[in-house]
Amino acid sequence: MFVDGLTENNRQKLLDAPKSDLHNHSTKGCRLAWLETKIDRKLPRPPRVFDGLMGMQEWFTGSIKPYCSGSEGIILRWEGAFAEAKRNNIKRLSMNFGAAEIELVGGMDTFREIIESCRRMYCHDTVFEPELTYVSACDINAEAEKIEQYLSSGYFRSIDVCGGEDIRPFEDFLPLYRKASQYGLIKRIHVGESGSAEDVRRAVDILELDEIHHGIHAASSDEVMRFLADNRIQLNVCPSSNVMLGYAPGFRDHPIKILYENGVKVTINTDDLLIFDSSIENEYLLLYNAGTLTAGQLDDIRLTGLATK
Ligand SMILES: [Zn+2]
Repeated sequence: MFVDGLTENNRQKLLDAPKSDLHNHSTKGCRLAWLETKIDRKLPRPPRVFDGLMGMQEWFTGSIKPYCSGSEGIILRWEGAFAEAKRNNIKRLSMNFGAAEIELVGGMDTFREIIESCRRMYCHDTVFEPELTYVSACDINAEAEKIEQYLSSGYFRSIDVCGGEDIRPFEDFLPLYRKASQYGLIKRIHVGESGSAEDVRRAVDILELDEIHHGIHAASSDEVMRFLADNRIQLNVCPSSNVMLGYAPGFRDHPIKILYENGVKVTINTDDLLIFDSSIENEYLLLYNAGTLTAGQLDDIRLTGLATK
């Protein structure tokens, strides 16, 4: 069904095929079209290219957030993220949540109830793997003292740091990643999006990562690609995000092709659907129509994403 969906340009077949989304910032995980119907207001579409991460954040804060802010707005956007997972038949979903968002809705127990009610309503048979994420500029010592209350709940399956690379050395995050190790979490970080192949290698070594969010610039180093392939380190790639933020030249020449052909495990994901306005079936279609990867290769990547640890 999935391969036919690509070769026939049949969006419904692509929507119906089981897929994963493993790099999904939950509060930006719903579709603009879905949100518009809920708030009864037309929202602007994003520009073709943003002025980097800052430009993206400014656009979101100025154009979208005013209409869905506060705890009510966040809960609505979470619901939309699950509604989209249902629409797109996401059978394995890893969504990330910031500690600040958990606190905003009333703490861990309330947060868990809200998320579980969304999950039951929209995707009761989806393998759901919540991820705890921190922004790279956070107060690490303060967060490390509080992390236990989130991890001891047993709810989270992975840890991540997002919000810009090169803010501080990877070693700084060790207090958080050591705790994550104690609880057996999958360890991921945003790296190699703006940063280099060497950054990717260093992050894996220092933080003992299992997977990477983005990591696309590893494609510039045969050595780093061999390291990632040999160690089965998976890269959760988000093509539209990379192109619209100017970190990849376009879909035709997206580094995912080189990574895949060098044996690096990759998956395809949405990142911030509410910003980039490209849902998961569309991501596969964009890469197929650009001639980046064949239908068979894209199907292989789809299956990689569905394989649970
Ligand atoms: Zn991301």
